[in-house]
Amino acid sequence: MTPRAPGPQRTCVGCGAVRHPAELERLVLTDAGQLVLGRRPAGRGAWLCRASLAECAGRAARTGRFARAFRRPVDRLEAARFAAEVSSLSPAGAELPPPTR
Ligand SMILES: [Zn+2]
Repeated sequence: MTPRAPGPQRTCVGCGAVRHPAELERLVLTDAGQLVLGRRPAGRGAWLCRASLAECAGRAARTGRFARAFRRPVDRLEAARFAAEVSSLSPAGAELPPPTR
């Protein structure tokens, strides 16, 4: 066992844990200023722990770390909406439902 995991490491914007991307969920900030979970959207990504997605999203929303991660202001209400949205998702679900809108 080597302590250094191969491949890229990412930092959770919620709790600051450094993990392999497989243990994290990616999110992006759209041009419209919306936070969207998923690997496909282009743009600067941020990462949240998959195992504690709701907790880390809530923490990032409260501390304003989303804006730091994206280097753009993130609306507080949007951050709160996103945190509420992910808290309703199953942490084990690899396949996330599409946004309802
Ligand atoms: Zn985390």
